Amino acid sequence: MEDVGVYVHVPFCERVCPYCDFAVVGVRTLAPEREARYVDALLAELGARRARFTGRRLASLYLGGGTPSLLTPESVDRIRVAVFGAFQPDAPEVTLEMNPGTVERERLPGFHAAGVNRLCVGVQSFTDATLKRLGRAHGAEEARKTLAVACGTGFAALSIDLIFAAPGQRVASTVRDLAEALAFAPDHVSAYELTVEAGTPFALADERSQLDRADEAEVVEMMGAVEERLAAAGLARYEISNYARPGREAVHNRRYWERRPVLGLGVAAVSSDPPDSDAPHGRRRSNPRDLETWQTAALGGSLDAVADVESLAPAVARGEAAFLALRTAAGLDAGRFAAEFGAPPRGFWGPAIAELADRGLLAESGAGDLQLTPAGRRLADAIFQYFV
Ligand code: SF4
Repeated sequence: MEDVGVYVHVPFCERVCPYCDFAVVGVRTLAPEREARYVDALLAELGARRARFTGRRLASLYLGGGTPSLLTPESVDRIRVAVFGAFQPDAPEVTLEMNPGTVERERLPGFHAAGVNRLCVGVQSFTDATLKRLGRAHGAEEARKTLAVACGTGFAALSIDLIFAAPGQRVASTVRDLAEALAFAPDHVSAYELTVEAGTPFALADERSQLDRADEAEVVEMMGAVEERLAAAGLARYEISNYARPGREAVHNRRYWERRPVLGLGVAAVSSDPPDSDAPHGRRRSNPRDLETWQTAALGGSLDAVADVESLAPAVARGEAAFLALRTAAGLDAGRFAAEFGAPPRGFWGPAIAELADRGLLAESGAGDLQLTPAGRRLADAIFQYFV
């Protein structure tokens, strides 16, 4: 049976971090009426969109954001029950992203009872000075307490999010963060290099040289430390920023790198509709980023009027297939690629592949499969430009 993953975007955050460019709304506390209206809109969108994925097995449900742990366990359960009822749930992975706040920590047993079996805790750092510079709403001690409770609550999988190359952060503090994270024996770690996104307060501060950022050599050293420490603890790198124990890779996240159908619900959520005769490479459906626009349309049954729909052109789909697969350790399977696009990667990017292979950035097997080399991973974004 074909399957589907469902992504639910919850935009509310206690405080908007100065490096964030996600679709978020700052709220000191989430009022019950506001929460109920948002969940009503999510379920209305599910009702309106589910037909495109009829009969599919539900492989994963992912509540991301924003801060979905600002929802009550009752709201999380409402969403889960509705999504399970819309598809064929077959022991799906149910992930909740959470921040280490006190209220959220007290809700952990409730989230577990609501069917969450995988918890992603946005720790980012165990160093208070780094958390302060990142503008995070929590401190290191709150992160430790949250992880301790999470470990004792019975979630099937625990993932910890870390950031490296944050302002003021150096190699030694990255190594300390890794050691603290590993003390909680996570199944999965996402370790992201801080990127300064245009239009954020960090971008402005960076222009004024006010961000105390590590230099290139230090960042390379941090990347090496992340990979080495996590590998030594049994967490292998399976994607540029993601590490897992064998068999504990994120089911939902893999869907994006493998371009499998995802139904996205909520403000700014993106759906990947399955291919059909009019769109042989699938369709991308993007919800508006403005909360009130999306919510009014979802509740009023007029989502089609506000969503942006794109039938993926062959060249766009090819580029995405290449760079998304190259993000993973498994790399780009030439046979699978040729089955969809009519020729292996060499047929479309022969000179680029030869150049990147000569420079030691790309490894090519005899069958034409492609993988980034360790040197290539450090230049991944530049390499992806050759394919899109
Ligand atoms: S908590 Fe996460 S989603 Fe919310 S503002 Fe900070 S970085 Fe963005």
